[in-house]
Parts: sequence; C-alpha cells; structure tokens
Amino acid sequence: MKSLQQVSPFHFISVFLIIIISTCMVNPQKISSSDNLCSYFGSTIKSLTNPILKFKNGSVEDFLALGKDCSVWSSACSQEILKIAQKTENIKWIKSVRRRIHENPELAFQEHETSRLVRRELDEMDISYRFPVAKTGIRAMVGTGEPPFVAIRADMDALPIQEVVEWEHKSKNPGKMHACGHDAHVAMLLGAAKILKARQNHLKGTVILLFQPAEEAGNGAKRMIEEGAIENVEAIFAMHVSHLLPTGVIGSRSGPLLAGCGFFKAVITSDKGHNSVDPVLTASAAVISLQGIVSREANPLDSQVVSVTFLNSGDGLDMVPRKVEFGGTFRAFSNTNVNQLLRRIEEVIVAQAKVYRCSATVDFFKNTDSIYPPMVNDNQMYEHVKKATIDLVGSENFQVVQPVMGAEDFTFYSEVIPAAFFYIGIKNEILGSFHSAHSPNFMIDEDALPIGAATHAAIAERYLHDRDISITALHQI
Ligand SMILES: [Zn+2]
Ligand SMILES: [Zn+2]
Repeated sequence: MKSLQQVSPFHFISVFLIIIISTCMVNPQKISSSDNLCSYFGSTIKSLTNPILKFKNGSVEDFLALGKDCSVWSSACSQEILKIAQKTENIKWIKSVRRRIHENPELAFQEHETSRLVRRELDEMDISYRFPVAKTGIRAMVGTGEPPFVAIRADMDALPIQEVVEWEHKSKNPGKMHACGHDAHVAMLLGAAKILKARQNHLKGTVILLFQPAEEAGNGAKRMIEEGAIENVEAIFAMHVSHLLPTGVIGSRSGPLLAGCGFFKAVITSDKGHNSVDPVLTASAAVISLQGIVSREANPLDSQVVSVTFLNSGDGLDMVPRKVEFGGTFRAFSNTNVNQLLRRIEEVIVAQAKVYRCSATVDFFKNTDSIYPPMVNDNQMYEHVKKATIDLVGSENFQVVQPVMGAEDFTFYSEVIPAAFFYIGIKNEILGSFHSAHSPNFMIDEDALPIGAATHAAIAERYLHDRDISITALHQI
C-alpha cells in the first residue's frame, strides 16, 4: 500500500487496484467475468498478510473460499484447506489422536494398536486402504483411484526411552516413548486424510497415505517398498517435527538434507589366552585410530562422522578379558563417502588388532539394518513443497534449513522416486518444547498439528493439480 501512495505517476493504477480488490472482497459473485482477476488479487492480498492470523474470521477468507473449484489454483484453495484444518472440532480431534498414540507407544514392527487406531479413523472417514503392508503398515488412498499417484508418508514407531515429562498423556508403557514425534506424524497424516476426503472432488488423481512401521529400527521403509507401497507412485513427501523451528514454521532445503548412515560393531578377541595379549589395549588403540579417518582422510569441507558410542570389556578387576566389543555409527553426505568410511573402519580395526596380536571381526548389520543412503531432496519436489507451503502459511513461515548429520529411512523412497523431506517446527519456549528428538524430555507444541495436516494436504492436492496442468499442456502441443 505504501509504495502505491508514494509513486504518484501510478496513482491511477492504485485507484484501479483498490476498486478491483474492494469489489472482489465485498461482492465476489458479481465479478464472474473477472474471476481470475479476483484470484490474482486474492494471492496479492494473502502475500501481504499471515493467513493464520488475519483470515480466521474475516470476510476476505470467506471471499477467497467462495465458489472456487480450484481448476485454477489460487490462494482461495490453500485457504480452504487451512480453514478445514483449523475448524475447532478438527483441532480437538487431531490433538486427541496424537495423545492416544502418545500414551501407548509401540516399538518397531510392534505398532499393532497404533495401526488399529489409524484403521479405525480411516474407516470413520470412509477411506479405503490396504493392510497389512510391512506387518503393521497401511496404504490408504483418497481421490479418483486413477493416476497420477502422489504419496505422503508418516512413521508410526516409538523409541525404547523412558519418558520423564510429567503430563496428563504421559506414556503408559514403561521404557517406551514417542520421543521422536512419530505420534504427531501419524496424527498429521490422518488430519491430511480428513482434509483431502473433504476435498475429494477437487483431486485430479490419487493421494496415497502411507503409515509406515519401524523407522527407528528395522528398515520399515524398505519393507514398505518391497511390499508395493509406492507402486505406480510418481512422487513422495514426508514431514518431521523439529525442535529447532518455531511452532508451525516449515523448513527444508534443496539437495542434501540428512546424512547417509551406517552402524558397526567390532569384536576384538585374544586367541592366545595370555595376559601379554590384551584386547582392552587393542580396542583402545583401534578407537583412537578410528578418529583419524575423518580428521586426516576426509575432505574438511565435506562433513563426515565416525563415532564410537559403546565399549564393553566386562567388569573384572584382576584379569585381562579375552574379548572386547565396541561399536558406533558413521555418517556422510554421499554414498561414495559412506562406503569409503565403511571400508576404512574395517581396515583400521582389523589392522590394529593385528598390531597387538589379537583378531577382530566387524559387523555392519547389513542383514538387519541396512546402510542408509543420504537424504537428498529432489530439487523440483523441494520447490513444490516451498511453493505450496508459502501459499498456505506465508513466506514468513517458511525457512531454508541447513543439512544435519541425522538420518532417516525415508531416504529409501527417495532412491526410487522423486522425493522431498521437510520439517515442521514444534518449538515453544513457554511450553518447554525445545528438547531434541530422542531426549526423555522431548515434547511438542500441539498447535503445529493442524498446520502440519494442512501442509500435507496442500502439497498433495496441489501436486495433482499442477501435474494435471502439465499433462494438459503436453496434450495441447
Ligand atoms: Zn528418531
Ligand atoms: Zn523420527
């Protein structure tokens, strides 16, 4: 508004804009011939304001939502999605879903009650699904049942951690906790299912909703893929809560986002059974030598990690043990570097064992926990997330984030089809939701839930919309 007042040569344009915007806002039904014009100005109005704050009860929202079939995407479509998510009864429902799951955390491939709860909610919404997929997983679908297919994924498993947060819905399963926010992920995906079902007539294809087991352990994503979860699906998206971003803020980046990751366990043994052959000294030397791989061999501009996280030689005080075990994790941002780290870890441990006259074996758990490739966001899919999110919650609520050394099994989907992974903030200093994932103090700000549900729905619906436009354009050539 300021710029229009200041630039006098364009004064007549500003008057024209004001007339058009005012007319659109006051009586949109009378602007039938300039529908697209109103949509355009709808976008302009929205880009100047925070939709969450400004459009809750106002006439602008009502205008934007009126009579739009979303054959041409406008802010009205995004606002309609947000409006459904923010209905009082839906907010109440999504929080209750998350709390029920939080109270009953289940570990990898044991998510029986969580899966049952999801299926019950899908039945309530009259959404069809395939079950079981990967033991407890579910593949639900909303839309035409026809291509194109786009998928959204939520993980369902909890962690073997004792919750220390004292609140009404604290974990009722001793030693188990949703300390990574997967309870919120399931609730937000169900929230998206509800929104998409309500907007079924707008969908120009099919949204596949994947409720996946065993992200924390057991390669649930791999098994979902093996059992056909992403058959015919051409793109996939997933969201993770983040204690680093303020509540409701969406963050992502193009390219590498999360590290590739592997685990190792070494066993050092003394064959000689003599005190002069010492597996403890051998293991100590090996642990020290492992530190040199990253500090002396890796490119300092290319982040890599080798960490020994446990060492066990028993608890005897007056004898040299025959065996020492130790292990840890290694991470890097390319498959080449991940494989190089794996090779060097084995070489260093075996060579050090030889120096000290012991023998060593190194297990990389290839049969049970595969080595995770790095999570590299497809540029087009990232741009899609960014566009849909900014349209939904405003550019002030979208952040480009830095890569982190964490790992995710969502990366297995990204090896098969174009994919983008993004975060939703749950940080609220007043509530105390600022602890990192996998902390026994972990908690979330539940106000993020409806925004997450709307973000999922907007990304999926708009993907199908944009895809439809590109197909139509292709046919017209
Ligand atoms: Zn986790
Ligand atoms: Zn997680």
